[in-house]
Amino acid sequence: MTTNAELMQRRRAAVSNGVAQGFEIFVDRAENSEIWDTEGKRYIDFAGGIAVLNTGHLHPHVIGAVKAQLDRYTHTCFQVLAYEPYVELAEKLNALMPGPGPKKTVFLSTGAEALENAVKIARAATGRPAIIAFASGYHGRTNLTLALTGKVAPYKVGFGPFAGDIHHALFPNELHGVTIDDAIDSVELLFKTTVEPSRVAAILLEPIQGEGGFVPAPAEFVRRLKEIADRHGILIIADEVQSGAGRTGTWYASEQWPVAPDILTTAKSLAGGFPLSAVTGRAELLDAAVVGGLGGTYAGSPIACAAALAVLEVFEKENLLQRAKDIGARLTERFKGLSQQHPEIVDVRGPGAMVAFELAEAGNPGAPDAALTKRIVSEAQSRGLILLSCGTYANVIRILVPLTASDELIEEGLDIIADSLVAATA
Ligand code: PMP
Repeated sequence: MTTNAELMQRRRAAVSNGVAQGFEIFVDRAENSEIWDTEGKRYIDFAGGIAVLNTGHLHPHVIGAVKAQLDRYTHTCFQVLAYEPYVELAEKLNALMPGPGPKKTVFLSTGAEALENAVKIARAATGRPAIIAFASGYHGRTNLTLALTGKVAPYKVGFGPFAGDIHHALFPNELHGVTIDDAIDSVELLFKTTVEPSRVAAILLEPIQGEGGFVPAPAEFVRRLKEIADRHGILIIADEVQSGAGRTGTWYASEQWPVAPDILTTAKSLAGGFPLSAVTGRAELLDAAVVGGLGGTYAGSPIACAAALAVLEVFEKENLLQRAKDIGARLTERFKGLSQQHPEIVDVRGPGAMVAFELAEAGNPGAPDAALTKRIVSEAQSRGLILLSCGTYANVIRILVPLTASDELIEEGLDIIADSLVAATA
């Protein structure tokens, strides 16, 4: 048996310090919502590889589709020799995107690449350079997506200069004193102080900020942003890398918006653990890119496309959109109950199964408690549960349990959270 400690030692010597590691655990195997480490210890997985495993680890239908694909061909590069799974998946995602009119899709491999390409497409379609993004938004680790990201540490530290003509407005967050009016005013202020609206190609937002703390964009905010966008010929891009692929009870979270986005990005749970991302949007926008302007050697790998088609089938067969709503209701009820005993829980929120709770000192939302959040994650780990935190102030616990997890397993995880709260606040 190789111990976690031995592997950590080798990792420290061989791997860049720039790559963080949430837990000093090395995985041996995983199944659905459980993981076993190299020492044979079992963990319940409420992290899902950061929102990648809505269909769980090694879903038999997904793995079956991948194995079948492995026996036929693994790579041709879609720009050289095309293949049906890419086209079929594009057809399916186009049909799922909200809003009227024909849609088109391009596939990439990572979420950041999807954002890079969404911006390229918006610029090509409008002939405009500037993008408005939001404080506390997260869009990736490439140079352009770091420019789009609205959080400094740790993502941007020491890595600039960043791509230009990206401007940040405030994202509404009532708990932290930013109203919808404040956020809308901050967009209008950018037009007065920083960039004229006729130079703005797109406004980019997450329907629910993921890394930023599971903070939903209120419907009223989206409606008013769309009014501003329409007034100035600006596109709306929804970054659904974390909120998409069924997490919130609809395939896209933006299906719950009062207005449809023009372009949206997906990745993570789209292909159930295989690297795949997509930019889907109004056909005339996707077609504005010059021929040869989009793509990539591995972009839309046949293995990942086969996996994603299987993920869509699993959602259908196992009714996972409804399951997301049911899991969300269960989590919300439990956390609301816990907040009665623990005033440190100052908010429980999120649509569908994209649920989180926020922690602050003495129940004062203005005093975020990152230290307590850390202690809860660590207490949970010692009790066999993998939990993730997030948030601008690192004081939010987010739940990304697979939608395929049984009620019993979810209850087991929730019991551990309850125990961990008691231990961490003692
Ligand atoms: N956008 C959002 C909303 C995300 O949550 C993430 C990843 N956490 C990304 C983009 C970047 O995706 P990737 O890590 O696959 O590049």
